[in-house]
Amino acid sequence: MALKIRIWGARGSLPAPETPIQLQERIRLLFDDFFSSGYSKKTDVEKFFKRFDLTHFGGFGGNTPCIEVLSPQQQLIVDGGSGIRQLGYQLMEGPCGKGKGEVHLLFTHFHWDHLIGLPFFTPLFVPGNQIHVYAVQPDLKSVFETLFKKPYFPVPLEGLAATIHYHALEPRKPKQFKDIQITPYQLDHPDPCWGYRIEVGGRVLAYCVDTEANRTSREDLGPDLPLYQGVDVMIFDAQYTLMETIEKINWGHAAASLGLDIAMREGVKRVLFMHHDPASSDAKIFQAEAEARRYYQTQVRAAKDGAPDLHEVDWSFAHEGMEFEI
Ligand SMILES: [Zn+2]
Ligand SMILES: [Zn+2]
Repeated sequence: MALKIRIWGARGSLPAPETPIQLQERIRLLFDDFFSSGYSKKTDVEKFFKRFDLTHFGGFGGNTPCIEVLSPQQQLIVDGGSGIRQLGYQLMEGPCGKGKGEVHLLFTHFHWDHLIGLPFFTPLFVPGNQIHVYAVQPDLKSVFETLFKKPYFPVPLEGLAATIHYHALEPRKPKQFKDIQITPYQLDHPDPCWGYRIEVGGRVLAYCVDTEANRTSREDLGPDLPLYQGVDVMIFDAQYTLMETIEKINWGHAAASLGLDIAMREGVKRVLFMHHDPASSDAKIFQAEAEARRYYQTQVRAAKDGAPDLHEVDWSFAHEGMEFEI
């Protein structure tokens, strides 16, 4: 294992918890499914669970972006969406709970959905913890000053007990964190947003959220092309269906088919799509996945018929709580 990744938030734009009515409807459908599958006893429940993956029961999750990357020597966190709250509780069980924690947190950009969990990230409130924050954008400290400020939040930045260290990353320049190397590349988003190429021992993760993917050709991607080359796993923005991307030009988000175009051409081995629209139900996300599946199969057939050299890709829509290794 070179890299272990956990997705703590896969929703985009705004946390999207289900309402009690939606939960009731989810339970109703599962009961229907259970009994119509011929099950009737309590002992059948585990068998029923094994028939489907987690999304069938729990959906894609409502927390906004936060991913945790673990190598043999280092932990990195990318983005502080609402998913970082639960990660904070987990960290508090280790050195962070004793004021001996060292956290490294990278930001892609400062839209609310990538910051909103920070005021509830408990390690920030423990004296002794060293919190290192990184971004390409030069205004990182002033963003923190705004976030931890009355009347938006009762504790001002100087009232946080942990020590915060601010670090500027240089565009397209690698930075080493023990055995992890990260390189920021620019994505296509209304306010500048930087994706990360994260490498450990020859394994590569590309984190490409948020992006509208206006640039997909090698020529257009230019200096940002290396983000997508020689990649084992790419996490990509699929907030919309292809039709919605046409209706929502300049909203800063993509459809899965755009990510698949890049992945198939560049030979990315696996793609996970996230930043799901807060307005999308599970059914809508499954529909978008089915639409992307049709697109992908058409492209694979075209490639077999002699169209430009395209690679087959293992891909799926990601959900909160998903863990994988590369
Ligand atoms: Zn976002
Ligand atoms: Zn954004």
